[in-house]
Amino acid sequence: MSKPDATYARIFCVGLNYLDHIRELSNTPPEKPIIFMKPATCIVRPGDKIHFPKHGRELQHEVEIVVRIGREGKARDEKDALSFIDSLTVGLDLTLRDVQNRLMENGQPWEIAKAFDQSAPLGNFIPYNRAVDLNNISFGCRVNGEHRQQRNTGNLVFSIGMLLVELGRIWTLYPGDLIYTGTPSGVGFLKIGDTIEAESDLIGSFSWRIVE
Ligand code: ZN
Repeated sequence: MSKPDATYARIFCVGLNYLDHIRELSNTPPEKPIIFMKPATCIVRPGDKIHFPKHGRELQHEVEIVVRIGREGKARDEKDALSFIDSLTVGLDLTLRDVQNRLMENGQPWEIAKAFDQSAPLGNFIPYNRAVDLNNISFGCRVNGEHRQQRNTGNLVFSIGMLLVELGRIWTLYPGDLIYTGTPSGVGFLKIGDTIEAESDLIGSFSWRIVE
């Protein structure tokens, strides 16, 4: 395994942020965003191999739009939040679903299901400017060329601006912080030998291969 990329400060992730995904997990929409974190050492750069984790069986892909924070502070409101974003990409929030289900049944934290080594494949960033409508970014993923997930950020339960405001209630944001904004429906299994591609017309396409 190549040395982890820990250039970034923190990775905030958001659970259950698209209605179609909430339904596929037989869940109910949360009143506030569900926030969890991954250490920055989980990041995998495009093209690197991903080793199938040995402590679970059901590895699932969750493709998500990821924003990077460019300045320190707390967003006052949704409009102000935009001034905190310096770039965008697509990433995968890799999840061991069997492990997560077991943890949830027991009311335990999610880290071993969500924050293991190489659980945060991350594309290359494009600069964000106000010409980009954060509520209208199409993105998706393919596994071995077959479409699995396809959605638009217009379907987010909590918009990217709202997420930054909510995060600011708890944490001061710092340059380099990343926010994985949630996954739509179509999460599916990955097995050894699969190639997964995360893509967005706006941002680009990035792929990873799953190995033993
Ligand atoms: Zn996710």
